[in-house]
Amino acid sequence: MTWPEAVYIHVPFCFRRCGYCDFTLVADRDQLIPRWFDCLGRELQVHREQAGMRLPVSTVFFGGGTPTHLDAGQLHRLLELIRSHFEWSDDAEISMEANPEALDEERLEALQRGGVNRISLGVQSFDDTVLKVLERAHTADVAEDAVRRVAARFPAVSLDLIFGVPEQSNVSWEQTLRRAVSLPVQHVSAYGLTWEQGTSFYRREQQGRMMRATEELEREMFLRGIDVLQQAGFEHYEVSNYARRGFRCRHNLVYWHAKEYLAFGPGAARYVGGIRSTNCRSVLRWLNSWESDQACLEETETLGHADRVSEALMLALRLREGFLVRDFEDRFSIQLQQFAGGTVRRLRDQGLLELVEGTLRLTPDGLLLADTVAAEMLNPEAGH
Ligand code: SF4
Repeated sequence: MTWPEAVYIHVPFCFRRCGYCDFTLVADRDQLIPRWFDCLGRELQVHREQAGMRLPVSTVFFGGGTPTHLDAGQLHRLLELIRSHFEWSDDAEISMEANPEALDEERLEALQRGGVNRISLGVQSFDDTVLKVLERAHTADVAEDAVRRVAARFPAVSLDLIFGVPEQSNVSWEQTLRRAVSLPVQHVSAYGLTWEQGTSFYRREQQGRMMRATEELEREMFLRGIDVLQQAGFEHYEVSNYARRGFRCRHNLVYWHAKEYLAFGPGAARYVGGIRSTNCRSVLRWLNSWESDQACLEETETLGHADRVSEALMLALRLREGFLVRDFEDRFSIQLQQFAGGTVRRLRDQGLLELVEGTLRLTPDGLLLADTVAAEMLNPEAGH
C-alpha cells in the first residue's frame, strides 16, 4: 500500500471558545492536555504498526483549536512525538496554526527547534472593534507584534483574515488588508464569516440580537480582498487563498488536488486507500476511547469511483488555475464529457465556467458563486 505523505494533527485546546467557532475543541480545560498526549501517542502507534515503518512525509499541518495554547515544553514534546513516528527532510513543509496572544519567545523557539517552518497566524482583523465582536483574545497591535516576531524566525508566515463580520465596514476591511500586506507575510487566507448551527453567533442571529452582513457587502469585501492582495503581489491561487510566488500552502494543495492524507487527534478527518474517515468530534469520547485502546470513529465512507471523480472535480475548480481536462481524464480514466458534460455545459452557458486551451476553470463570475459551482459538481449530469 502507498501511504499518503501529508499528515494533519489536531490540537483541540483553546483558552476560550470564540462565538462563531464550531471547531473540535475544549476551552479552558488544560487538565486534559496530558491525556490528549497519551492518546495521540496511542493513535500514532497503531498507525505505525499498520505501516510497519516510520513513514516519510512531505507536509505536516498542526491545526486546532490553538496548537500554541500548549506551552513551550509541550510544543517541544509534540514535535518530538510526531518526529518519532514520521520522517521528514529539510524541504518538507511543517505548518503550525498559532494565535497572536501568548505567542512568547519560548514557544517560538520550541517551534523553530522542532522543525516548524511555516506559521499560520489567526489574526482575523486589524480592527479592535471587529476583534471584540469576534471575541478574540488579542488586539490589532498584539497581532502585528506577533507577525513581526514570527517573521523574524520563520521563512513562511500566513495570516488568516475574516470578512463579513457584524459591525465590520468596507473601510475597516480595507484597512485590515492594507495593514496585512504591509507586514512581512507570504500567504493570506481570507474567509467570509460562516454562521454554523450550534454556535453562539448563530443563536444570537436567530434571536435577532446579531445581524449578518448583506450578500452585497460580503461580495464587495471579497472583491476588495482580491484587488488589494493582488496589487500587493499576492497570487490569488484558490477561492480564499493568496500567496507570494513559491509560498502556496503545500499541505492544503494536497486536499485541493484530491490526494490522500493522514490525520490524528479528535475530530481529525483522513482520506486513505479511497476511504474517508473522521475521528469522534467529542474530545472526551475520543480520549475515553483511546484510553481503552479503541479507535474512535464518527464516520467512515468508502468513496466509489464516481464519488472520487466528482469530489476531485469540485476541489480542482477551487483552484484559480483550474485543471487540464486531459490530465484529469487520464488520472481518473474517464471522459469529462460523459461524466459531467451536461453540468459543465450549463455552467459555461451561465458564464460560471470557462474552457481555455484545454483548461477548465471558474470565470470571475463563477468565483463569486464558487460554492454553487461546487455543489453542482458533486452531482454532475453527463453530457451526450
Ligand atoms: S481561537 Fe480559533 S479555534 Fe479557538 S475558539 Fe477561537 S476561532 Fe475557535
